[in-house]
Amino acid sequence: MNESDTLAIIKPDAFGSGKSGRIIAHLEAAGFQVVAARVSRLSRTEAEAFYAVHRVRPFFGSLVEFMTSGPCMPLLLRRADAVPHLRQVIGATDPAEADEGTVRALYAESKERNAIHASDSPENSDIEIAFFFTGAERLQG
Ligand code: GDP
Repeated sequence: MNESDTLAIIKPDAFGSGKSGRIIAHLEAAGFQVVAARVSRLSRTEAEAFYAVHRVRPFFGSLVEFMTSGPCMPLLLRRADAVPHLRQVIGATDPAEADEGTVRALYAESKERNAIHASDSPENSDIEIAFFFTGAERLQG
């Protein structure tokens, strides 16, 4: 487990409305290095696999629709204590509850269309980084 790496995804709402530059600038200002980045249009199979833990939740179908609705931007981010720090920087799931100045307070549209994903534990960040990036990309930076 690498405590200094985590995964973010700029979601289709924010990527499609031209907010990715501002969000990356916000993350860099918070001390994150962008180690690797992609633009990816998730297939249904990929979105269902990525969010498999939410399969039983009532919003699962809608979440998969949203995440496959347009391109998104997975980012491999690095800094000390990356996972808890990024969770703090993105804010609460629902932008109405997100602290002022967080990415979601600034850029999210709704609880579902909430601009950005971030891994919720170092264990999951390892799995989620491997979902999008190769071992060689992880060695950059
Ligand atoms: P996160 O870790 O803050 O992203 O939140 P969760 O892991 O609980 O949920 C995953 C994603 O599902 C969220 O980022 C939202 O895009 C979506 N989501 C969560 N809760 C709801 C909800 O109550 N309704 C809808 N429509 N989407 C939700």
